[in-house]
Amino acid sequence: MKYETVTCSINKSIVRKLNQINREQNHLKERESEMGSVQPAQIPTSFGHELRACLRCRLVKTYDQFRESGCENCPFFKMEEDFDRVADCTTPNFNGIISVTDPTRSWAAKWLRLGRFVPGVYTLAVSEVLSEDLRNLCEDEQVQYVPPKRV
Ligand SMILES: [Zn+2]
Repeated sequence: MKYETVTCSINKSIVRKLNQINREQNHLKERESEMGSVQPAQIPTSFGHELRACLRCRLVKTYDQFRESGCENCPFFKMEEDFDRVADCTTPNFNGIISVTDPTRSWAAKWLRLGRFVPGVYTLAVSEVLSEDLRNLCEDEQVQYVPPKRV
């Protein structure tokens, strides 16, 4: 009787440990797939005067990068198809930049409302507003556009 109780408690602790290991592994796997599924934005290739920020998501890249591959957060702007769009959707006037590697877990990214955007380089604030046409486009695409507070 005593013997049985001892093996039973050993088994229980082993089972508990195994469950714990399983949980940890699952958590790691989830984390990997989370990271794997998010395709980060391009990093600016230079930090000169040609840098521009997207007026909707505030992603910062060079003019050429926006012209060649558009904005990773706002593909519906189709900047890569129409060069004029780059000028309409982005601005060279912005203050301060922040690099975000994991927007879902960064308090700074959440505070700056970047939580739903892809990892990349962002500016803290833009002062220009999207044109009415482009605001309507956002509405049609059912994506949120938050205009800057100070205009
Ligand atoms: Zn954008």
